[in-house]
Amino acid sequence: MDFNYSPEQEAYRQQVRAWLEANQPPPLTPEEKERIDEDLLWERNKRWHKKLYEGGWGGLSWPKEYGGRGATFIEQLIFQQELARLGQPMGINVLGIIMTGPALMQWGTDEQKARYLKPILMADEIWCEGMSEPGAGSDLASIQTRAELVGDEFIINGQKVWTTHAHRSDFCQLFVRTDPNAPKHKGMSALLVDMHSPGVTVQPLKQISGDAEFNEIFFEDVRVPKQNLLGPLNRGWEVLVSTLMHERFGISETIGGADVILAQLVEMAKAIPVNGHTAAKDDEIRQQLAQFAIEVTAKKYNGLRALTRRLKGLPPSAESSIGKLVSTELSQRMTRFAARILGAYVTLERKSPFAPDGDWMRRILQAESLTIAGGTSSVQKNMIGERILQLPKG
Ligand SMILES: Cc1cc2nc3c(=O)[nH]c(=O)nc-3n(C[C@H](O)[C@H](O)[C@H](O)COP(=O)(O)OP(=O)(O)OC[C@H]3O[C@@H](n4cnc5c(N)ncnc54)[C@H](O)[C@@H]3O)c2cc1C
Repeated sequence: MDFNYSPEQEAYRQQVRAWLEANQPPPLTPEEKERIDEDLLWERNKRWHKKLYEGGWGGLSWPKEYGGRGATFIEQLIFQQELARLGQPMGINVLGIIMTGPALMQWGTDEQKARYLKPILMADEIWCEGMSEPGAGSDLASIQTRAELVGDEFIINGQKVWTTHAHRSDFCQLFVRTDPNAPKHKGMSALLVDMHSPGVTVQPLKQISGDAEFNEIFFEDVRVPKQNLLGPLNRGWEVLVSTLMHERFGISETIGGADVILAQLVEMAKAIPVNGHTAAKDDEIRQQLAQFAIEVTAKKYNGLRALTRRLKGLPPSAESSIGKLVSTELSQRMTRFAARILGAYVTLERKSPFAPDGDWMRRILQAESLTIAGGTSSVQKNMIGERILQLPKG
């Protein structure tokens, strides 16, 4: 088996690198650093999103007929690697692009595709994913938010929670119970809901990092036209499972920067003094960095398995769970290790003039969340055990 990139793929990498280096957003100015907050970052990322789109890099893997570039998954991977190398984000509307868009392509009517896909790609309309509820997270089949079909409209009542970017969203891919009498996997449906509809209330939830990226959403007699049903009525479970597979594949690929975190740790270890020499000369730190390097390499080769499946034109499968589990757990451990190298300096917040480069405190606090979002690590282990290893259910 040949794991090397072909000359064409290497040429593509050079093309991506040259464009990104020439067009990437400038570093934050000292004034921006002082008043840095979520709104400022969102606006910066929005400008970056538009630039990526105009440069032809939006929705790389989306088929050309839907406004994407029809790039192969290898090309997409190369692009993600180069973005991560520069520490730049994908832009905004990430959930729309990695989840709602592919779900619409798979399940949407021609009218729905024509109406929604392009604004998703251009981030002219921001989307969120309404799955989790206070009583249904890992066990999403237990959702209780109710949608009743009355004439030509669904009437929605209930609550969602942890909805990323709901406060910035124009639409929500919402999962609701449409038949309360059917077995729980059989009475759900997916709806495309306008977040500006009367009866929708969004309440931000503040995280330990100080950011408020996710929210509660309350639905009170919210009316949604019948044609906004995504996929067949009462078969929302199938829509949900396929949407989650896209998310897991997306998370493992978009946070594919484990090698970048490793490189940052190594650079930091070479520069930071510890006990009279650089941290890189400390035996324990060297061993841990070597261990991370081994795991990053193993993760990379394992990731190629999920990629091979996609290259064969197959949809993401339970193998995405391996990528999701390994990427998020490894990134979490590596990010935390920055504290071992930086010592007490790591606790300084990014606004402090003495804060080390890299925004490590915030990253450490945030790294926890990806091991929960998109299905917790325990749930991924169940999937791997049952679907891949064919172990009996626990
Ligand atoms: C950053 C972030 C963003 C998110 N964004 C969204 C979003 O946009 N939309 C959305 O709908 N949701 C979102 N979520 C919610 C996320 O999907 C849920 O938090 C997650 O699925 C876990 O559900 P829960 O919080 O209800 O925990 P629970 O399901 O109550 O789990 C609690 C604990 O029990 C364990 N557990 C549960 N079931 C099992 C089992 N069968 N076997 C073994 N262990 C088990 C879990 O691993 C966990 O440790 C987000 C979460 C985070 C952290």
